[in-house]
Amino acid sequence: MPNRLRQLAGTNQHGSPGDRHMEYLLSTDVTAARRHEANLKTLAHTDTLTGLPNRRSYEAELEAALGRSVRNRSGMALMFLDIDRFKQINDTLGHAGGDEVLREFARRLLRTVRKTDTVSRLAGDEFTIILECVRSPEESARVGAKIVEAMRPLFSVGEMARQVSTSIGIAWTNSAAHDARALSTRADAALYQAKEAGRNQFCVAAAPK
Ligand code: GH3
Ligand code: MG
Repeated sequence: MPNRLRQLAGTNQHGSPGDRHMEYLLSTDVTAARRHEANLKTLAHTDTLTGLPNRRSYEAELEAALGRSVRNRSGMALMFLDIDRFKQINDTLGHAGGDEVLREFARRLLRTVRKTDTVSRLAGDEFTIILECVRSPEESARVGAKIVEAMRPLFSVGEMARQVSTSIGIAWTNSAAHDARALSTRADAALYQAKEAGRNQFCVAAAPK
């Protein structure tokens, strides 16, 4: 038993069996407090609906991935995804049904990308994926096509089944000159283009001049 705990328990190094009981209670308390602290930390970085990393966690991950990309001289891509006509989905299936669609959407994203890629939910029906070690914009486009395809099978919500699609904006980089903000601006513009072009598709941002 650490001395600090002994002091708290009011015992000396030759404590009685009763003291040992106190020791046990105190160490259990400390373990519970540590576990509680760890749980709070996890909660602060997790989206409770889908279990994915939340915006705060995503921002830290993006900085870390950009750092690795520069150090390893490997390309990476950032994807912004937004479910198409999600308001209609909420209207027809109800908010709880909409939540189920968000959870299934998250599961399909996780099934489609590699374990080393980071899928996050930013808010509402907005998700992001950080793809590491992507050699070219074409390679990131192939992942975009796979995700559009993964959403094709109907989503079941209770007794209902419905079509759900997504629009995706992709920005690829292999340059240290691209910071998180510049990459996000390009991915966002590409997402806007995908929506404008009719939804249910991806768009890869042009390389910056
Ligand atoms: P668009 O194709 O242009 O993306 O149209 P949209 O209807 O999907 O529009 P938008 O992306 O702006 O709508 C997102 C909606 O998501 C608005 C809000 O009511 C709903 N929403 C936000 N958070 C939640 C949530 O946690 N659960 C559910 N069920 N709905 C949410
Ligand atoms: Mg939407």
